[in-house]
Amino acid sequence: MAKKQFKAESKRLLEMMINSIYSQKEVFLRELISNASDAIDKIYYKALTDEGIRFDKDSYYIKVSADKDSRTLTITDTGIGMTKEELEKNLGTIAKSGSLAFKTENEAKDGHDIIGQFGVGFYAAFMAADVVTVISKALGSDEAFKWESKGTDGYRIVSHDKDSIGTEVILKIKENTEEEDFDEFLEEYRLKAIIKKYSDFIRYPIKMDVTERKKKEGTEDEYEDVTEEQVINSMVPIWRKNKSELTDEDYENFYKEKHYGFDKPLKHIHIKVDGAARYNAILYVPEQIPFDYYTKEFEKGLELYSNGVLIMEKCSDLLPDYFSFVKGMVDSEDLSLNISREMLQQDRQLKLIAKNIKNKIKKDLQSLLKDDRETFVKFFETFGRQLKYGVYSDFGANKEDLQELLMFYSSKEKKLVTLDEYVSRMSDDQKYIYYASGESHERIEKLPQTEVVTDKGYEILYFTDEVDEFAIKMLMQYKEKEFKSVSSGDLGFEDDDKTSDNEAEDNGNQELFEHMKQVLSDKVKDVRASKRLKSHPVCLSTEGEVSIEMEKILKAMPNNQNVKADKVLEINVNHDVFSALKEAYENDKEKLGLYTNLLYNQALLIEGLPIHDPVEFTNDMCKVMV
Ligand code: ADP
Ligand code: MG
Repeated sequence: MAKKQFKAESKRLLEMMINSIYSQKEVFLRELISNASDAIDKIYYKALTDEGIRFDKDSYYIKVSADKDSRTLTITDTGIGMTKEELEKNLGTIAKSGSLAFKTENEAKDGHDIIGQFGVGFYAAFMAADVVTVISKALGSDEAFKWESKGTDGYRIVSHDKDSIGTEVILKIKENTEEEDFDEFLEEYRLKAIIKKYSDFIRYPIKMDVTERKKKEGTEDEYEDVTEEQVINSMVPIWRKNKSELTDEDYENFYKEKHYGFDKPLKHIHIKVDGAARYNAILYVPEQIPFDYYTKEFEKGLELYSNGVLIMEKCSDLLPDYFSFVKGMVDSEDLSLNISREMLQQDRQLKLIAKNIKNKIKKDLQSLLKDDRETFVKFFETFGRQLKYGVYSDFGANKEDLQELLMFYSSKEKKLVTLDEYVSRMSDDQKYIYYASGESHERIEKLPQTEVVTDKGYEILYFTDEVDEFAIKMLMQYKEKEFKSVSSGDLGFEDDDKTSDNEAEDNGNQELFEHMKQVLSDKVKDVRASKRLKSHPVCLSTEGEVSIEMEKILKAMPNNQNVKADKVLEINVNHDVFSALKEAYENDKEKLGLYTNLLYNQALLIEGLPIHDPVEFTNDMCKVMV
C-alpha cells in the first residue's frame, strides 16, 4: 500500500514533537496511556447502553512492556480499537484543530513550553520514538490493521493479524544522542516512575512485568530474578474517596508521595464540589516554610488534573498570591486534556474553581483560628507575613478577605491577637487602634511614645514586620476604628484635659522652641511641648502619612526616593532637662544650641535612626561633662 502524507498542520506538530526539548519528552507515555484509558472508557459506556457487550472489569487494562533487545516499548490496551478509517482519520490528521491552531501560532514563541505542560496527544510518541506502529482491532470488526510511521515523511496502513479487540502502540525508541538519553524509556524503574507521576490515578489497571531479585525458595542465600506482572497505578484517587474513609495519615502519605514538602502538613483541606464548578481538590498548608519561599525563584501553584490525568504541575492561576504557600492538587472533569496555558487562563470553569478554592482556604483558616488557635498561631508565625502582603498588594483589593486573619503582638496580652479581639477590648472612650513600630518587641516596649498610651490603659499593637505599617495604611480602619501610631502628632485622646495646660505652656515657651527649631533647621518640622512624655525628656513624633519606620524601609529599598517623615521634636516640659533648657535660653545661647543638638540626636537613637555625625555627637557629650 502506498505511503500517505500527513495533513500539513499535523506535519508541523510532528516537527515540534521531534525537536522538543528533552526534559519534556517523558509526557509521551502519559498521552498514550490516557488514550488507552479513553478507549476503555468508550467500550465501558457502550456496554452501558448496548446489551450485546458485557463490561467485565477484569478484562480491561493497559499494559506497558519494554524490550531492550529490540528497543521497543509497547502500550497495549483492551479498549474499543480503531477501524482502518479511524486509524486514517485519527492518526493521520489532528482532529482538534482548535488547540493545534493555537499551538502552531505560538510555536515560535513558546511552543516547547506548551508541549511540556499540556496534552499534545498521540504525536507525542515521536518525542521518544523514530518509528511508531499502531496495531488495532475495532469493536465489532473481524479485521485488524497496522498503521506505521517514521515521522514527518508520512504513514502506511496495511492489514494485520490481531485476535483480541483493542490497540497496541509500539514505539521504536530512539538511539541515545550526546545530550539525550533515550535508553531510560526502556528501563523498568523509569517507566514505573513516569507512570506513577502522571498516570497514577487512571481508573484502569496499568500493568507491567516487573523483575525483582528474590531469595530462591528453600535456600539460605541464593537469589534469582523473578518476573511478575504488577499493577503500577493506585487507580482510586484519594481525592475521589470520601473524607470519612480517610485518616490524617492517608493525607500525610499523599503529601509525601506527591513531594509537596518534606515536612508534615500543618493542615489539609479536602474539597469535593458538585455545583457550577465540579471538582475535587486536596490542599495542604505546610508546617515549614519552603526554603525558597520569600525568593524570586519560588513558584506558586497547584497540580491540575483533568479527570485523573495530570495536565499541569504548577497551575498558578488556581491560587492568589497571598495563599501561595498552599500545596496540593485539583481534579476536574470539566477541563480538556488538551488545554493550553493561555486558554486555561481564560477558562471560565477554571476561574470558578479558583474563586471557590480561595474562599474555601479562607474559610478553613478562619475556622482554624476559631477552633485550634495554637495551630493557627503556628501557621501565622510562618506565613502571616504573606497575608499582610496580600492586604497591601493590588491596592488593597483583597483586604476584606484577609483582615480577619491578621494577627499582631499585643502590649497587653503579650502574644499575638487578632484585630477583632483588640476592638472588642477597646474601652468606650478609646477612639483609635494604637500601634507602635520598631525592630523588636523589647525595643518598642521602651519607646517613650508608648508610655502615655499604655498609661491610659489602652492596648498597643507592636509592628515588627516591614510590611505591617503599609498593610495597615491600606486597611485604614477595622470595624470603623481607625489605626493610629503612638508616634503620630495627635493621639486623639477624648478627655484630654491637659491640652489647655500644654498649650499655655507651649505659648509661654514659644520663643524657646522657635530658637531650638532654628538650631535644627530643616531636620525637624517643629519643636514643641509634648503631651505624651512622662519620664523621658524627648521623643520624635511625625506628622503626615510617612512614619519613621516607613522612612527606614523606604531608605533601604533599591529605588530609594529619599522620602522623609515630617518629624517633630517633642520636649517633656515637666522634665528637669527642660529647666536646663530654659536657663540656657536666658543666659547662654551657645549652650542651648549644644543641648538642642544633643536632645535631637538622643531622640534619633531611641527611634533606631542613624545619627548624622556621631563624632560631633560624642564631642558634644564631652563638652557637657567638662
Ligand atoms: P485526543 O486524545 O485528544 O483525541 P490524540 O492525538 O491523543 O487526541 O488521539 C487522537 C485520536 O486517536 C483519539 O481521539 C482516538 O480517537 C484515537 N486513538 C488514539 N489512541 C487510541 C487507542 N489506544 N485506542 C483507540 N483510539 C485511539
Ligand atoms: Mg489523547
